[in-house]
Amino acid sequence: VACILEGSKIKEKLLQELEKEFSKLQPITLASITTLKNFSIQVYVNQQKKVCSLLGVKFLEIHEESAHKIFKVIEDLNRNKGVKGIVVHKPTKEGLNFWEIAEKISPSKDVEGVNSFNMGSLFKGKPTIIPPTASACFYLIKSTGQVLRGKNAVIVGASEIVGKPLSMLLLEELCTVSICHIGTHQAGFLEEYVKRADILCCCAGVPSLIKGDWIKEGAIVIDVGINYKDGKIVGDVEFEEAKKRAGFITPVPGGVGPITVMFLFKNLLYLAKSDLK
Ligand code: NAD
Repeated sequence: VACILEGSKIKEKLLQELEKEFSKLQPITLASITTLKNFSIQVYVNQQKKVCSLLGVKFLEIHEESAHKIFKVIEDLNRNKGVKGIVVHKPTKEGLNFWEIAEKISPSKDVEGVNSFNMGSLFKGKPTIIPPTASACFYLIKSTGQVLRGKNAVIVGASEIVGKPLSMLLLEELCTVSICHIGTHQAGFLEEYVKRADILCCCAGVPSLIKGDWIKEGAIVIDVGINYKDGKIVGDVEFEEAKKRAGFITPVPGGVGPITVMFLFKNLLYLAKSDLK
């Protein structure tokens, strides 16, 4: 039976480190921009607000729905010396292009690593700001203490905020990385790839996509998916079955999610400190 990677517990250690570091800083602000109101966005906003209050960071909440107003807000935030990080919540309102908005954030305030400069640095193997979800997955994989070099890493989901950046991090560790996506699924190859994964990271956002009996014996299984099914939050992996075969597995909820928030604040700390130099 797998060792459960309890994000909620691991988070405490990261939080303590952050508390120590933030207490050495002058007051700073994290700006959070929403363009749409829905339940999951509100969950993220509340999570960030809560950590801000624990770390003594001012949380500036902004809601705007028109592109030109959002661009103007970001321009002002880029110039505001007290603001050290800017988050634009995904998904954005219909008709707005998230990536176009992300490009307006100054690379030195891009706390989620979503503009081209920070993404490009990651691609070159010299990252400074990494999208927090990818960092959280990578941290959990490393926390197992397993040798990563030469392992087959399979990522299911190729988004810019999870699958693609995580693939770069695992590549740097000399894993053999396969990125699967909807095309892999439609071509009927998903099971074949998953079955050979020593490290499996699922970030498709499809409940029960990964069958428990596809999991390789002893594999590290990181489930990023947050899906609402029958009034419950579930991941992409059939947890109960998968747990019997995996070496390590993250639960949903309480796995990747709590660590992701910590890495957002690690990025904020890095940006605030770089600003002091
Ligand atoms: P996205 O929609 O941008 O990307 C989904 C990816 O999955 C795409 O590459 C798509 O091709 C692939 N995919 C979709 N259906 C598939 C299928 N049937 N088979 C194989 N691949 C398939 O999503 P995202 O923003 O990267 O989020 C993915 C999931 O991760 C969502 O459930 C989201 O809620 C969750 N998420 C969790 C955290 C966290 O901290 N735990 C953070 C961000 C996102």
